[in-house]
Amino acid sequence: RARNGGRNACCFFEPAWDEQFRRRHELAQDLRRAIAHEGQLRLLYQPLVSCETGEIEGFEALIRWRHPGRGEICPATFIPVANETGLIVELGEWVLETACRAAASWDKPLRVAVNISPIQFRHVDLVNLVSRCLGRHGLPASRLEVEVTEDVMIQDTGQARDVFRRLREVGVGIALDDFGTGYSGLSYLQAMTFDKLKIDRSFVARLGETADALMIVRAIIGLGHNLGLSIIAEGVETVEQLEILKGLGCDQVQGYLLGRPMQLDGSLELVSMRARSIIGGKGHEGIRG
Ligand code: C2E
Ligand code: MG
Ligand code: MG
Ligand code: MG
Repeated sequence: RARNGGRNACCFFEPAWDEQFRRRHELAQDLRRAIAHEGQLRLLYQPLVSCETGEIEGFEALIRWRHPGRGEICPATFIPVANETGLIVELGEWVLETACRAAASWDKPLRVAVNISPIQFRHVDLVNLVSRCLGRHGLPASRLEVEVTEDVMIQDTGQARDVFRRLREVGVGIALDDFGTGYSGLSYLQAMTFDKLKIDRSFVARLGETADALMIVRAIIGLGHNLGLSIIAEGVETVEQLEILKGLGCDQVQGYLLGRPMQLDGSLELVSMRARSIIGGKGHEGIRG
């Protein structure tokens, strides 16, 4: 009986497991094809705006995949598959290449921020890759910022420190993404050389709703500034959140209020004007209109 039950249980679970495996495998194959052929992948750019001046200081590059059969697939679905299959290496190269080429073509010398996955961070000679890419496009290193999450420091602190130091030497900026959601130890903040902390969207979303969120954000800004880091808040959607962040001395903001991830072609002036009018609070015409 027991053996029978065991077999039944096995039969019960197998199809679901199979199905899941098959889907992932299919997605991975499709992604491999998407990387090899032009047209399905593209980058959108979301403004990073100075709280003080209202000027756009850079853009974060965010990947999008339009699957021929399934339509838009969001990065939260396919980036994990890319990480598990190792495709992130090629995908990451494509992202870096595309972002640097775009930034080199902009009519203002703004920064481009590129997300680097922990797998890519560990398995690729990032410093070499970045240097060659900058060289190819004649983009000054100061115009590139890499965004990494706290997980890159968990496995091999020594390697992470080394990569950060070498990126710094090249002149590339380093931002710690989704700050406050990952590995909670803070000692690495001393050992590592970053430039910027990105306060995770989950804290920003609750600003103005809970006193806890306000205190956490205030503490992160204080901590960051004391360590000489610049602070950006992600996911700013309301004027209230913006005002609180400005009041707390946050350096930059990013979010739907200032601009959604967008296609940039040619002139940056239009997007710049919009961000300026929102930060400047000149009647807030950009927001309600
Ligand atoms: P992330 O790096 O933290 O990027 C910010 C995410 O927040 C983006 O989601 C962006 O569209 C979204 N966002 C920005 N402002 C707002 C807002 O005001 N409200 C809300 N609700 N969302 C906002 P997206 O583009 O779906 O990307 C999700 C994650 O996927 C990214 O989080 C990043 O971890 C990863 N990702 C995206 N592009 C790349 C890439 O090129 N390479 C790698 N390795 N990862 C990427
Ligand atoms: Mg990011
Ligand atoms: Mg982020
Ligand atoms: Mg985030």
